[in-house]
Amino acid sequence: MPPTDNVMEKLVSLAKRRGFVFQSSEIYGGLGSVWDYGPLGVELKKNIKERWWRSMVHEREDIEGLDAAILMHPKVWEASGHVAGFTDPLVDCKHCKNRFRADDPRIKGTPGEPTAQCPVCGSKGTLTAPRMFNLMFKTFMGPVEEAAAIVYLRPETAQGIYVNYQNVLQSARQKIPFGIAQIGKAFRNEITPGNFIFRTREFEQMEMQFFVKPGTDLEWFEFWREERMKWLAGLGIRPEKLRWHQHAKDELAHYAKDAYDIQYEFPFGWQEFEGIHNRTNFDLSRHQEFSGKKLEYLDPATNERFVPYVVETSAGADRTALVAMIDAYNEEDVEGDKRVVMRFHPALAPLKAAVFPLVNKDGMPELARRIFDDLRKSYNAFYDDGGSIGRRYRRQDEAGTPFGITIDGQSTQDGTVTVRDRDSLKQERVAADRLAGYVADKLKG
Ligand code: ATP
Repeated sequence: MPPTDNVMEKLVSLAKRRGFVFQSSEIYGGLGSVWDYGPLGVELKKNIKERWWRSMVHEREDIEGLDAAILMHPKVWEASGHVAGFTDPLVDCKHCKNRFRADDPRIKGTPGEPTAQCPVCGSKGTLTAPRMFNLMFKTFMGPVEEAAAIVYLRPETAQGIYVNYQNVLQSARQKIPFGIAQIGKAFRNEITPGNFIFRTREFEQMEMQFFVKPGTDLEWFEFWREERMKWLAGLGIRPEKLRWHQHAKDELAHYAKDAYDIQYEFPFGWQEFEGIHNRTNFDLSRHQEFSGKKLEYLDPATNERFVPYVVETSAGADRTALVAMIDAYNEEDVEGDKRVVMRFHPALAPLKAAVFPLVNKDGMPELARRIFDDLRKSYNAFYDDGGSIGRRYRRQDEAGTPFGITIDGQSTQDGTVTVRDRDSLKQERVAADRLAGYVADKLKG
């Protein structure tokens, strides 16, 4: 059963205890809304990214991969509209010095007016009128801290794709329609970050930009909406926790003609974790204008020239990891005992199998080690010989490991081991030399 109370607290505590996510620089008191992935978390996030990459790049002939640098020419961000427009309205409380987004639902009244009340200290009339705050992190390139040397940490990975679109088109000998996929870090100086890894200042995006002929964009937009929902279904995310949210006119980003978010019902409400956007030819046209380089496409079939439209699918790797963790978190009563189990889809599970010698004698550890060494040639597996077998199972339930393999007295006699299924708790005896194939079949199904 998914728990109904204090879910985030429980999850944050499990994440720390079991090594999914730690607070950044914790021994110095932490750095606000920056998080580090521990041994299990890094595997989970890597599995999400690999699965995304496989479905986008390896399984499709019409999408190519790219890894552009985080630092880009500062003109990129003028052209993209981020220098002028990537802003949030910011409000300060003159009394307690806290900062809010002007649209923070906790603010009662209109900021700047005498009746508005600060949601933290409760003072009236102390909130400033909203002013625009640019969310891009700035830094300096080279040794001289002068305006000419300002560069930005990219706030989205998309621009690295746009400025390389012709390089990829030509080098990979693609034709429109085709796409470019990229996974990488992005940075936003969010005014009100929070909710664990939901909104952070440094995060990772998995973005795919699909370049199409103008006029075919609506069709491709629908195509990619469907594909992305299918992909999430394939990760086993509970469908009743997913929904679409179409952006209203006043929510649309400066570049977008239409946009849908995929929302998940987090313990703190329905929130976006992926967006599908029709970005039109806004970005390429602007780069054409600002760089003075032609970014048109010459259609070899019709000899027509056009600046392609772009349909973007933009997912956060960290938010998807949070969705996977929340969706997997279950508490159950088993034989009068409470167990916490992370029911990850096997493809996402950080560890695929754990190997346990029942006792540390009678040839069991030797056989268990051989099985472990064999399994980890193909999978990330774990060896645990500490504590009662029940406790070892519980530890792997919390890590979300689909299979527990126990080597007991019978194993050394007839070469069979027991395989315990994380979800059904059923135990099966399997010949040790068939184990790799058995686990592979189960992981596929
Ligand atoms: P929000 O409205 O939540 O700030 P956004 O609409 O600005 O998000 P996009 O610019 O569409 O988000 O970014 C695409 C995806 O990148 C989001 O769906 C989310 O998964 C991820 N993302 C964006 N900002 C953050 C952040 N501060 N922390 C973690 N992930 C983020």
